Amino acid sequence: HSPTARAAPEEEPASAALDALRSVATLPAELRLALAREELSLVFQPIFRCEDGAVASMEALLRWNSPVRGPVPPDRFIPVAEESGLIVPIGAWVLRQACAAASAAGGSWRLSVNLSPVQFQQPDLASMVAGILRDTGLSAERLVLELTEQMSLSRYPSARETIRRLRAMGVALALDDFGAGFSNISSLRGFRFDLLKFDRSILALPPAQREPVLSALLAIAGAFGLEAVVEGVERPEDWALLRRLGAGYAQGFLLGRPEPGLGAALVRAPVPAPSDRAPLLS
Ligand code: C2E
Ligand code: MG
Ligand code: MG
Ligand code: MG
Repeated sequence: HSPTARAAPEEEPASAALDALRSVATLPAELRLALAREELSLVFQPIFRCEDGAVASMEALLRWNSPVRGPVPPDRFIPVAEESGLIVPIGAWVLRQACAAASAAGGSWRLSVNLSPVQFQQPDLASMVAGILRDTGLSAERLVLELTEQMSLSRYPSARETIRRLRAMGVALALDDFGAGFSNISSLRGFRFDLLKFDRSILALPPAQREPVLSALLAIAGAFGLEAVVEGVERPEDWALLRRLGAGYAQGFLLGRPEPGLGAALVRAPVPAPSDRAPLLS
């Protein structure tokens, strides 16, 4: 090994780190422009009722197609939007677009929209939601707001009052990504939710743990009087297991992927014939 050959790799990481730092530093500014430049869009993923495979809900998911970076995944830019406060105007835009699309499409399925805990800091969140429902003509009973507990909700004093006002309007509340992050039993006691969404990491457990853990979680949902939605249904055996355990609702790439239109709302998930089901005793 020559000394020059050894010097090069030492400099590369430093400049790569600097590039990464610059790239992160400009994200908030790029995101600020993204909304005005119409680089943001929505896709919709169906949530199916396990009993009969009917579409119960369509979940709006945000997409950012940056002219410089290409598609940026929400797990990358939502935290940036939260730190910069941009999630407030972006979140309002998402809700308005999604409600307008669902209202125009009609149907009896519900619309699920993700809200950041940062939006729950806004004391006027419930009025904002009421205003958008009024403007778009979507009935409150068709709206489900999904809240993920990246941060503890109890940090936000106005969150409890906001949840109470939203539920009084007829809007349903879902606790998203339960089983991952900070979600716990005390958040189920402290805040009134209607639905509990289990993170896809549950279905990703090894077979020996998957069924007992899922059964226990479904029992927790039942104990709190909540409907259960299981995320991450990727394999036919996941779908069969959910139906066998009597889970309420299911979402995942096997059943329906996020797509730009609301066309998937017309599609029914394939319900396995009784003979396809795994035997109760083996
Ligand atoms: P989420 O709300 O839990 O949404 C489900 C995520 O899992 C979506 O990722 C969806 O594409 C993905 N997914 C669905 N089924 C499967 C599956 O079978 N397998 C796998 N591997 N993944 C599946 P996406 O769209 O990348 O969104 C990631 C997260 O970003 C969302 O998780 C949500 O927390 C957040 N997010 C997305 N849109 C918004 C938004 O408008 N506002 C806020 N505040 N957060 C959003
Ligand atoms: Mg969600
Ligand atoms: Mg989720
Ligand atoms: Mg998730």
